[in-house]
Parts: sequence; structure tokens; C-alpha cells
Amino acid sequence: MSGEPLPPNGRVVIVGASLAGARAAETLRSAGFGGRVTVVGDEPHAPYDRPPLSKQLLSGAWERERINLPSEQMSGVKLLLGATASQLNLATRTLSLLDGNELSYDGLVVATGARARTLDHLLRAPSDRVLTLRTVDDSRKLRARLHGHVVIVGAGFVGSEVASTALEAGARVTIIEPQAGPMRRVLGPSASAWLATVMQQAGVQLRLESSVVGLSMTPGDTGVEIALSDDTVVADTVVVGIGAAPNVEWLVGSGLKLDDGLVCDEALFAADHVVAAGDVARWYRTDLSRTVRLEHWTNAVKQAECAAQNLLLGRAAAAAFADQPYVWSDQFGIRIEVLGLPSEHHDDSIVWGSPDDNRFLISYRDGGELTAIVGVNATRPLLALRRRLAQHSGLDDELLSLVVR
Ligand code: FAD
Repeated sequence: MSGEPLPPNGRVVIVGASLAGARAAETLRSAGFGGRVTVVGDEPHAPYDRPPLSKQLLSGAWERERINLPSEQMSGVKLLLGATASQLNLATRTLSLLDGNELSYDGLVVATGARARTLDHLLRAPSDRVLTLRTVDDSRKLRARLHGHVVIVGAGFVGSEVASTALEAGARVTIIEPQAGPMRRVLGPSASAWLATVMQQAGVQLRLESSVVGLSMTPGDTGVEIALSDDTVVADTVVVGIGAAPNVEWLVGSGLKLDDGLVCDEALFAADHVVAAGDVARWYRTDLSRTVRLEHWTNAVKQAECAAQNLLLGRAAAAAFADQPYVWSDQFGIRIEVLGLPSEHHDDSIVWGSPDDNRFLISYRDGGELTAIVGVNATRPLLALRRRLAQHSGLDDELLSLVVR
């Protein structure tokens, strides 16, 4: 029968040994699941945290050990590191690994996250001057190159944070961004224009509405020539920060639905006995009547907890995943926090504080309906909002009025 609970002595395989994978394993154990739990991860490292990779670890403020994820609940969990999942057979409930081994499961958690998009197609050969940032090894490589002229392609979360850390390290920093402002798709025009001013005042050179059309090494490999649509820039190091692609290739041919992520129902099930969590999961939000995929730390944690609990309950008794998206970013001495799903197409207005003081809250509305709140150096009101949200039906004006008077 499909949709039944996981047998108490069953076998759970978790693919992806990072934030979502580790949290799913912990949740199974803390819920009292006594069966076998195996976590398969293709990186050689035990689970670690990624936010510091562009901040404290990249700047050298933190030692490597500090980013390890706590592992108290991981005892009794088998961790297979350096192991890549290559194929999934739903009918036989078997996971194949690249090394030829196979694992049988009663329940499967897909937590393979995402990887950095690259501009490799523009390069004749790989170069240690053209880098991306997703793993601890990427962060270590980049740390050694934060000098001279660092050019960052893409002013999203990761690109903007790297710009801040590189500047702090003494590098000359240029950002190339096709949009009219940094983080504009998320923040919208007003907050993006404010952030552009912050960056410029800090010393970043912003090349907006500009795209990279070619990358080549200068003679003697002494630098990288970046051809833009309207100019050429020479860098010592290029950091490509153009977003992430979900790791789903190993699921091709499994019968699971793939569409910029692994498509799941509202309870995070991709099929009977198969749940997903974190950056890889595209799940159905009943309140929005569409699927959403997020690349947020808090989302990975909360989804992993919900997915693991639902796997134990079985699909028939599973609860929908419901959580208001939240993401933070630390850059240029400022904390930016986003609650909800803002869009550059929504109407934005400042509801508290002032951009001149680098301390404010912006509300975002779609047809009058509140969709998101962005806080800049507004951690206390944001925290109050998040706490109240936990007892509230959703993001609405009543909630906002409780915090912003
Ligand atoms: P991942 O962390 O991507 O982990 C997936 C794991 O699965 C990886 O180890 C991967 O190698 C492995 N894997 C992939 N395919 C296979 C396979 N076939 N077999 C076995 N293993 C596989 N979020 C915030 O909210 N705030 C921040 O400030 C912030 N800063 C960030 C800074 C950086 C530099 C980065 C990269 C991310 C940041 N994030 C931030 C996002 C946050 O870290 C992610 O949302 C989170 O890591 C997602 O966790 P995950 O477990 O879903 O995926």
C-alpha cells in the first residue's frame, strides 16, 4: 500500500550531507526513529555551514572548525562521505552510487542542494583566476586571492557579500551586474538603489546594466580580460556569482518530476516514500497556488524537519509544509533581512526608519496585499515580526501594525 508510515525498524537513506541532510537525520533520531539512517554525501567533508563561506571564513575571522555543523544527534547515523548518488530506482527502492554500490531504502530524503552556476562556456580552459563560491574548498581558494583587482560577476546575495569581504581584505573591487542595481530582483528598485549607494561609498566600482560576453587570459596568464557588452575590464581574479543550479541530474530517468529542482507536493513528497528538503526542493505552496524553490538557510532547516517527520508519518498522514520564507545577508557592515517573497514588480514603501541612517523597514505589496518585509539593520523589529508570525495566520497588515506603529 502506498502512503503508509515508515516501519520503526526501516531503512532511511538521505542523499546530501549538508544542512538539510544533517537536519533530516537529526530530526529522525530526535523523533525516536530507531531504524537505520545512512547519509550519502559527495563532498569529502562532514556537514558544514555555508553562510560563513562568503563572510567570516572568507575574511579569516573564523577558523575552519567553527563552521562544522553540530552533530550530537548524528550518533548512530552512518555517514558515507565522498560518495555520489548516480541513479534512483523507485520500483525497487534502490539508490545506486557512482562507485557501483547500491543502497536499499524504505524512505528516501533528497537533500542534494544546488551548485554554483559558472561561465565555463566562455573560457578556453579552467583557470584558478576564475572562481565560484559554493563549498569550503572554494572559500579557501578564494581567500588566497583577495588582493589586486577582484571583479565579481553578479550582484546577488553571494556576489555582494564577496564584494564586501574582498574590499575589507584590501582588494580593489568591481561588480558587473546586468540589472539596474544590486540584488534588485529581490529588493526591488528603492532598496536596490540604496544598496548601490552603500557599495559605492564603501569603494566598490559598480558596472550596472552590463553583461560579460567573453573571458580570456592576458598574455602570460597574469590576469583575466573580461569582455563586456560595452567595454573591457582586466582583473587579477574573477568571482562568478550568477546564482545556483539544483543538483538533480542523478534523478534523471527515475520518473520523478524535475523542473528547476525536484518537484514535490505541499507536504514535500516527490513520490511515495521520497521526500525532499532544502535548495533542491521545488514544493507546492497552496497559499500561492504555485511551486517555489528557495535557497535560504532557514528554509533548508525547516523543510528538513518537516520532510523527516512526514516520512515517518507516511504520505497519507503527512502535514503541509508551511513557513514564511526568511533570509539574511551581512555585507558592508549592514544586515539585510527578508521576510516573505518580495519582487521587483511589487509596490515598495518605507514603513519605518530611514535609508539615510541605513536603518529601515520596507513593505512590498502585490495588488495591495502584503507579500514581504525587508529590514535593514532592523534585527529587533524583524525578530518581533518573526516571533509573532509563528502565532499568526500569515504576513498581513494586522501583523505589521503590531510591530510598526
Ligand atoms: P547544500 O548546502 O547545497 O548541500 C547539498 C549537498 O549535497 C552538498 O554537499 C552537495 O555536494 C551534495 N550532493 C549534491 N549532489 C549529490 C549527489 N548526487 N550525491 C551525493 N551528494 C550530493 N542563506 C541564508 O539564509 N543566509 C546567508 O547569509 C547565506 N549565505 C550563503 C553564503 C554562501 C557562500 C552560500 C553558498 C550559501 C549561503 N546561504 C545563505 C544559503 C544556504 O547556505 C543554503 O540555503 C543551504 O546550504 C542549503 O542547504 P542544503 O542542504 O539544501 O544544500
